[in-house]
Amino acid sequence: WSPGRVRAVTAAGHVADAVAAVVTVPPPVVADGRLAINDLPVRKQAAAHELRPGDAWCALITYPEPAPESVVVFDPEGRLGFVTATAGRREVVVMAKAEAAGRARAAWRDNALLRQLAGALPWTRGVEPESARVADWGADPWAGGAYTYPGVGALWAPAAWAEPMGGTLFFAGEATTGLAGPPMAHMAMAGGERAATELIGALR
Ligand SMILES: Cc1cc2nc3c(=O)[nH]c(=O)nc-3n(C[C@H](O)[C@H](O)[C@H](O)COP(=O)(O)OP(=O)(O)OC[C@H]3O[C@@H](n4cnc5c(N)ncnc54)[C@H](O)[C@@H]3O)c2cc1C
Repeated sequence: WSPGRVRAVTAAGHVADAVAAVVTVPPPVVADGRLAINDLPVRKQAAAHELRPGDAWCALITYPEPAPESVVVFDPEGRLGFVTATAGRREVVVMAKAEAAGRARAAWRDNALLRQLAGALPWTRGVEPESARVADWGADPWAGGAYTYPGVGALWAPAAWAEPMGGTLFFAGEATTGLAGPPMAHMAMAGGERAATELIGALR
């Protein structure tokens, strides 16, 4: 990029030119070199390294029989995160974040997850699921996990990541949130509106 000019080049060689761009990828995508931005200031490089989302691992497990009742079980031992079943539905959702994600991932790998699930939902004990789908957000290189809370000593990083470059490159997404609110969907959208406002101002 240079002031007033952006060229985006994909790995397949597709090229797009623009007068400005909004970067919305999670910062680790930039920190780990999956998206390269020319002349990225050192402060922004450091912010991209600091702003790593927490771990997240989810599974959708379908049983042959529907759940007898609607429940959300929060595993008090931090092993499975939230387990959700809905009366009349055959699917059970496991949504594990932070340390629970690592434990759920390991339990899945070691074929222990269904046994732990029976502790949360006794009606699944001894029942063989019909199917299971896993979404390993922590291992997804394009997402990297869930919720970019700045780590200890890194409260400066979200604002640094949000700083526009030369009135040409703008930055949005949950990682730009900082202390403004929780780094979740609504704050990601608020960051998008902020970046759009900055961009419109720059174009004017
Ligand atoms: C399991 C889970 C549960 C969640 N639950 C909730 C909830 O209940 N409520 C809530 O508010 N929030 C929730 N969140 C958080 C919410 O999903 C995020 O805060 C929000 O999606 C962040 O939006 P974003 O635009 O910043 O980033 P993302 O949604 O991560 O979007 C970034 C996009 O960039 C793409 N990308 C990455 N690299 C490249 C590249 N090089 N080129 C092109 N594209 C690229 C990615 O594929 C992705 O689509 C949850 C997240 C997870 C993982």
